[in-house]
Amino acid sequence: MSYDFDLFVIGAGSGGIATARRAAQYGAKVGIVESDRLGGTCVNRGCVPKKLMVYASHFPAGFEESAGYGWTVGETSFDWLKMITAVNNEVDRLNGIYQRMLDNSGVTLYEGYGKFIDSHTIEIGDRGSDNPFQEKNSRNVLTRKVTAEKILIAVGGKPVKPDDIPGVEHAITSREIFHVKEQPKRIVIIGGGYIGVEFACILNGLGTEVTMVIRGEKILRGFDDDLRSEIQEGMERHGIRILTNKPKLAIVKQDSGLEITIPTNDGGKEIIVADAASLAATGRKPDLANLGLENTKVEIVNGAVAVDEYNQTAEDHIYAVGDCTDRINLTPVAINEGRAFADTHFGGQSRQMSYENIPTAVFSTPEAATVGLTEAEAKEKFGDAIKVYRSKFRSMYYTLPDKQEKTLMKLIVDTNTDKVVGAHMVGDSAAEIVQGVAIAVKMGATKADFDATVGIHPSSAEEFVTMR
Ligand code: NDP
Repeated sequence: MSYDFDLFVIGAGSGGIATARRAAQYGAKVGIVESDRLGGTCVNRGCVPKKLMVYASHFPAGFEESAGYGWTVGETSFDWLKMITAVNNEVDRLNGIYQRMLDNSGVTLYEGYGKFIDSHTIEIGDRGSDNPFQEKNSRNVLTRKVTAEKILIAVGGKPVKPDDIPGVEHAITSREIFHVKEQPKRIVIIGGGYIGVEFACILNGLGTEVTMVIRGEKILRGFDDDLRSEIQEGMERHGIRILTNKPKLAIVKQDSGLEITIPTNDGGKEIIVADAASLAATGRKPDLANLGLENTKVEIVNGAVAVDEYNQTAEDHIYAVGDCTDRINLTPVAINEGRAFADTHFGGQSRQMSYENIPTAVFSTPEAATVGLTEAEAKEKFGDAIKVYRSKFRSMYYTLPDKQEKTLMKLIVDTNTDKVVGAHMVGDSAAEIVQGVAIAVKMGATKADFDATVGIHPSSAEEFVTMR
């Protein structure tokens, strides 16, 4: 049987676009469908606009610190709308780049919503345009349906609001925060994961009064304990109020904003009045609605597309990558999964994505980054055969401004092999530094290899090769 495409990709986010381009480079005939803007969550309402806002949020501290170096900064002011507009203009620019990249690679782009009619056929519909099946690209075949030999599901995820918080529908999510036109004056952030922590720090840096409410003892569950404590202390030192062990909240919408009721330890309750733009950052889940998966044999387990180590679903020719499979929900992981798939099926090099030692960063203030095992995970895996190296210091930059900002670095070593099995850092440029350390950890470097590496002086990073 002949098909319209060798590969058809549903979803033009990071994973989908990377896969489509790689497969097309190998000579495959590739189509891709997207109902929203190109680039997915990362480009449009995630990593990219978030990181730009992180930069914006660091200026007030920089102005303050510059005094220690002899500068006098004149009167400063901040224009939220100007920042949001600039951030969104950059997102527009990136959308254009993605469009050109797809055009140049010969991938046929369809604007619309892809839905399985049967396991080889996708119907391209629309979510709201006047002419749902308008062809976007002159090379496109004007059709409602396309067929493909292989199909890749790369539809990503979406934020979820917990239904155990009455009134949570009034809170916004990370989808909306990038489009809020006025800076929130007082915000309550529910959830202490990546998104909650990053936005608490961004908004606090920009001058918003931030209260974070978490249901456990500490933010960032799953990260190394020292790292969690260090970030949490840093956030509190910078003025963020973090209310812990608060599983039961209620939200009521008032004319003045949102009234958030939080139980107190003495059995009473505290009511915080916050702006309407208060944020529910309580996790994400795969976005599989209306995908027509019931018309295929693809299985859904715990709300995610079930795949094997080759990203193959229960249907032989249908694959899935990225957040819709709910494994490790990070952009570079989705890209890597997609490229491994394309290399295997169109490039003649069978390969699996390696999930070991994936580095990650939290762009909080202080910033944190990590690769490998946490101390708790290393203990569980190696028992007492681990050695933990810890160093906490004030970096040179903060001496003249006389600020008590600390850097924490931590290495975890398997003493049987001397291999560094975990590296963690909290402090300025943690992401930039740990990216390099991650190469060493991924290659299986030993503590002796770290020790034999000459430090770059003076830097904070040199501490990673001088720990005793
Ligand atoms: P996370 O899963 O990281 O965190 C969710 C938070 O919400 C946790 O603190 C969790 O608490 C809390 N929570 C969940 N349900 C409830 C509830 N019913 N009531 C109160 N609190 C609740 O999700 P995020 O939304 O922060 O981020 C989603 C994903 O996006 C991340 O896992 C990550 O993969 C990705 N991401 C990566 C970034 C990066 O690389 N820098 C940045 C942003 C996102 P508890 O811990 O108790 O479960």
